[in-house]
Amino acid sequence: MEIAAKLSILADAAKYDASCSSSGAKGRKGGPKGLGSTEGTGICHSYTPDGRCVSLLKVLLTNYCIYDCQYCINRRSSDVTRARFKVDELVSLVLDFYRRNYIEGLFLSSGIIRTPDYTMEQLIGVAKTLRREHGFAGYIHLKTIPDASPELLDEAGRWADRLSINVELPTQENLDRLAPEKQLVQITGAMGRMKERIAEAKADAAPRGRLPVFAPAGQSTQMIVGATDATDTTILHTASELYSGPQLRRVYYSGFSPIPDSSAALPLIPTPLIREHRLYQADWLMRFYGFEARELTTAQAPNLELGVDPKTAWALRNRERFPVDVNRAEREDLLRIPGLGTRNVKRILAARKWHRIRLADLARMRVPLRRALPFIVTDDHRPRLLGPDSLDLRDRIAPRGAQTDLFETAFAALHGEL
Ligand code: SF4
Repeated sequence: MEIAAKLSILADAAKYDASCSSSGAKGRKGGPKGLGSTEGTGICHSYTPDGRCVSLLKVLLTNYCIYDCQYCINRRSSDVTRARFKVDELVSLVLDFYRRNYIEGLFLSSGIIRTPDYTMEQLIGVAKTLRREHGFAGYIHLKTIPDASPELLDEAGRWADRLSINVELPTQENLDRLAPEKQLVQITGAMGRMKERIAEAKADAAPRGRLPVFAPAGQSTQMIVGATDATDTTILHTASELYSGPQLRRVYYSGFSPIPDSSAALPLIPTPLIREHRLYQADWLMRFYGFEARELTTAQAPNLELGVDPKTAWALRNRERFPVDVNRAEREDLLRIPGLGTRNVKRILAARKWHRIRLADLARMRVPLRRALPFIVTDDHRPRLLGPDSLDLRDRIAPRGAQTDLFETAFAALHGEL
């Protein structure tokens, strides 16, 4: 098969992996007279350890696979055209694209061929050849295989900037149903080993001020959302454990989209993108705002509200904690105010050392007052108490341009608790 044909198959087969990209971008096509498309496959973007955004060639080494994960287009029983790159072919392709300035790095994943160890050796072969024989200093993200031997995972980390293993589903029960060859303990065990190696390498490199020699950009994973009936509570708890245990840098959420010839065990309709979006917002709250997974949903409503962001939903459920006086509150309480981000909290804390905060100060900081006003007290503002009569509250916190029906449904649900 021609290299171009292989590339077309294997870049397309890699598009279902969201763990390197900003999923949820609005689909846009240039059309016959336009230029570019957000739906194309083959190139994705990622961030290097020093914060640069880089374009990566996103591709599989092969889409042959001996496993039969029901949600995957490349599963053994799937009727798709198969292809496989040889190590040298992929190395030449990466170097060629790099020299033409198309890409700055590589995101490489693979179906499992022969054995996990054999596949891992091939993936390592690409990264090692690029680094050693061609002095390639671009970014490399290698998808690793949890069943591969620890020595191979160790070696993968020597050549890659980032390593990832997809957990795919949040519970073993879910995996048993859709990916019976996969074991959650094996996946988290491999992540735990990588965490130790990353920590050791960081400790070794720190005194010399060098980049660690083992996966300096850490490790990440992906969870598919909506392929099973797992609730957002379950998904967020699993994500929280992955952050606190193996200390993943990122958990990516990928809304399930139906695949051709799919199993009857899978839903027929795609997961709404807004659910994926709300999970990312909740994830952000856990990582940067001090929220715990258990605070973001309730036993009565185990899924995140779709019509309102998770922070506002939490604030409406916990109205006894508001309004918050921005001139006195601790950082942790300021971070809980809807509309206030980490940067603005920092600015408020710095500004109030010199003067008392008024609404005009918040406006200058570009705080979205429409969202924040019902929840804050400033020198010149005190909201009416939030209560069941606060229909005006709905008007004030409704995000501009929100779909009213969605918002009203969410508000009605929350209003019952007010
Ligand atoms: S192991 Fe990976 S490539 Fe193979 S079927 Fe499962 S998800 Fe797909």
